[in-house]
Amino acid sequence: MKTYNHYIDGQYVEPIGQKWIDSIDPYEGKPWARIPHGCAQDVDRAVAAASRAMREGPWAKMTATERGKLMIRLADLVTKHAERLAEIEVRDNGKLMAEMRGQVNYHPEWFRYYGGLADKIEGAVMPIDKPDMFAFTRYEAVGVVGVLTAWNSPLLFIAWKCAAAIAAGCAVVIKPSEFASVSTLEYAALTKEAGFPDGVFNVVTGYGAEAGSALVDHPQVAKITFTGSDVTGAKIYAQAAQSMKRVSLELGGKSPNIVFADCDLDKAAAGVISGIFAATGQTCIAGSRLLVQNSVREEFTKKVAALGASARKGNPMLPDTNIGPVTTPGQYKKILDYIDIAKAEGARCILGGGPATDSALPGGQFVEPTIFVDVDPQMRIAREEVFGPVLSIMGFEDEAHAIQMANDTIYGLAAGIWTSDIGRAMRMSSALKAGTVWVNTYRAVSYMMPFGGMKHSGLGRESGLASIQQYLETKSVWISYAEGAPANPFILR
Ligand code: NAD
Repeated sequence: MKTYNHYIDGQYVEPIGQKWIDSIDPYEGKPWARIPHGCAQDVDRAVAAASRAMREGPWAKMTATERGKLMIRLADLVTKHAERLAEIEVRDNGKLMAEMRGQVNYHPEWFRYYGGLADKIEGAVMPIDKPDMFAFTRYEAVGVVGVLTAWNSPLLFIAWKCAAAIAAGCAVVIKPSEFASVSTLEYAALTKEAGFPDGVFNVVTGYGAEAGSALVDHPQVAKITFTGSDVTGAKIYAQAAQSMKRVSLELGGKSPNIVFADCDLDKAAAGVISGIFAATGQTCIAGSRLLVQNSVREEFTKKVAALGASARKGNPMLPDTNIGPVTTPGQYKKILDYIDIAKAEGARCILGGGPATDSALPGGQFVEPTIFVDVDPQMRIAREEVFGPVLSIMGFEDEAHAIQMANDTIYGLAAGIWTSDIGRAMRMSSALKAGTVWVNTYRAVSYMMPFGGMKHSGLGRESGLASIQQYLETKSVWISYAEGAPANPFILR
């Protein structure tokens, strides 16, 4: 079993407290690696290294074009090591190899995209309304960025956050989830091989309340970018306010998949299943509420249940597995608790509804793909994020009813619409309060497309051109070339 160390200032270093945490393989249910149990002093070392990199040394002097070239070199290295990194992610979080292979192979595109953007961040010359004055804006890196990521897609989140931050000229300290840190620690070595100066990328692992919180508090961190639950996000937002940090938050959801009678029901059924059972439901964009038009509700429910019943549970490394284990014991218990709550509230279970008892599944952390009908929109199962393979089906009459039900949530991350009527697609996509709306598809993301949530699903957007602004400060520069007597010092110029 390999023991890992933090990656600080271009080197792997042991944790100051000389403590490590077992990283558990959720499929086997056994430890497979050890990661450092970081403390506030480890965070301090990493932030000091990042600050130094931004103040002095090669990173501070590097041109944006050179930064971009390093990013593209890193992208190529990740492509070269994608299979190994994806296997590590599966060992850590139990998600399907097919899914993680796809994600890790896609990761480099963010570095290519933002690597190309690095030297196209242009300020403006203002046609200023004052005589004898030259006025322009320039964009500067915001400073050291603290990157906090969740366990479900560790390297994808690094792409979403760090590519824009690095292109902007920031240095980063990454604190991955204590449940899935190994891929991030391995990734750090590739940043060195790509040629990034020491201190630009740093990784400190450990628990959120300890290492994570120390990063949020640190006075030399200028910005926090976070992916995780809304409860933790709110805590971080409040804490970061004490030191006036910039904050962006990618949080949870209770996303609706809305099926109209006029759609291709088979395609919609596949989309609904991908929305809730892919990744064992452990995705922020899980389409956990299926809203279906009453005229086809019975027929469509049967289709979805049949497709859900055909999902194969098993070893996430194998290509024919559809459902892997739940990542953590806490999450496993939470999902089972929600299933019990739904039953107690009167929802009717038509598929699954408990732990998978198949003795061929070694780690024990498997939940049956579960579908509830007779769900009332006020039930907890219809309102709270489960983060597991649990679908609630509810009926609606018409567009207005669908919009009202879809928006009746504190969340606003994503929504799916299934219809063959383009006018309806346009009306619905405008009325839904969600950061992403998919029409006749679900779970599509791209480096070009902004992603993020409304309401309790977060603040800010990742991916796309505009997201780089989150890592920049605008500076306004005024230069007077007026001749003659000094201006009146007592009035605003
Ligand atoms: P989490 O909130 O428990 O933890 C996320 C990260 O924050 C981890 O690195 C954790 O160690 C750290 N953390 C925890 N408490 C902290 C604190 N007090 N101070 C600083 N850091 C702290 O989330 P999770 O269980 O890892 O992930 C699941 C959640 O993430 C779900 O709610 C899911 O919807 C959300 N998520 C959102 C997106 C998105 O892009 N919107 C993507 C994936 C997951």
